Amino acid sequence: MSQADIRNYPDVMQACQTIANLVAKVCQVPAVLIMRQNSDSMEVISSADTPQSPFRSSDTVALNSGIYCETVIATQQPLEVSDALNDPLWHNNPEIKLGMIAYYGVPVNWPDGSIFGTFCALRNVAGHFDAEQTTLINEFASVIEALLKQVSSQEQLQLLADYDSLTQVYSRNRLLERLQHEFDRYQRYQTPLSVIYLDIDHFKQVNDNYGHGIGDLVLQLIAKQLLSNQRQTDFVGRLGGEEFLICLSDSQLNAAMLQAQRLLQKITEIDVEVKSHALDISASCGVAQASHGDQTIDQLIARADQALYKAKLAGRNQAKSA
Ligand code: GH3
Ligand code: MG
Ligand code: MG
Repeated sequence: MSQADIRNYPDVMQACQTIANLVAKVCQVPAVLIMRQNSDSMEVISSADTPQSPFRSSDTVALNSGIYCETVIATQQPLEVSDALNDPLWHNNPEIKLGMIAYYGVPVNWPDGSIFGTFCALRNVAGHFDAEQTTLINEFASVIEALLKQVSSQEQLQLLADYDSLTQVYSRNRLLERLQHEFDRYQRYQTPLSVIYLDIDHFKQVNDNYGHGIGDLVLQLIAKQLLSNQRQTDFVGRLGGEEFLICLSDSQLNAAMLQAQRLLQKITEIDVEVKSHALDISASCGVAQASHGDQTIDQLIARADQALYKAKLAGRNQAKSA
């Protein structure tokens, strides 16, 4: 599972900064860092704001540069280097150039045990870190891990709120929130914006004839098609029941109609068999482009819904425009 971006949590970032400052002050060292491992770099998340620190928050170092923290991550063990200048293992360490010849760092992990990074102190004077300093660093590493646990649970809650659990498309709330954002952009800059209101045909019969479980499966398979056939700037959400809304930013009505027809084609190609009987799956679409008459997203959606009604009346398995 990909982990949350801690930078999206300002309270947690603030707490991390406070921890770094506090530990630098109590341990009387020039540099205390909370480091994050990214796919291709190590990044300073928080750096104690001491005048002697050569590090800044957001600094990055390429992976495999040989910095102390990489060893902590690789071994998942605390590391102490008391005098890198006189240690054959460490005398080529890039941080020596910054004057940082003594190091104590510990691993910091996400609640599921995956790697976050490290918490460490660096000094420009050789010598061991005493027990008080190492205990403090270990204890605050646990506090940072407790903060990560909070970030993780908040992220989980947000995912639950943002995505429909059955189909994995946006939930209604998230869909409308994003559509509102696109609508604001349309009103401000007149960038084209179109929506496709998609409703499964005769879906009640699917449930009645084959059961709710097959109905759910059809919803999932349709959602999968909608997700896998969208452009990067489009997004799709479940308005409710068997109704989806696809939002196409920067699309005129013509392009949106073509996309609706493409999606309907993909839906008719969905292959579901129940007791060797192949289901006929189709949907209908109403397509509308935001125009001067639309003051709100509700008005835009209502016009798409009216177009959908026309598509249903005209025999289903087709798209009509508003
Ligand atoms: P039309 O072609 O006119 O759209 O007909 P329809 O049968 O698709 O429309 P109707 O509104 O009569 O029925 C919608 C059905 O969708 C009724 C409801 O039980 C079913 N439904 C809504 N949400 C879910 C769901 O989450 N799972 C399943 N299996 N069925 C659902
Ligand atoms: Mg419906
Ligand atoms: Mg329907």
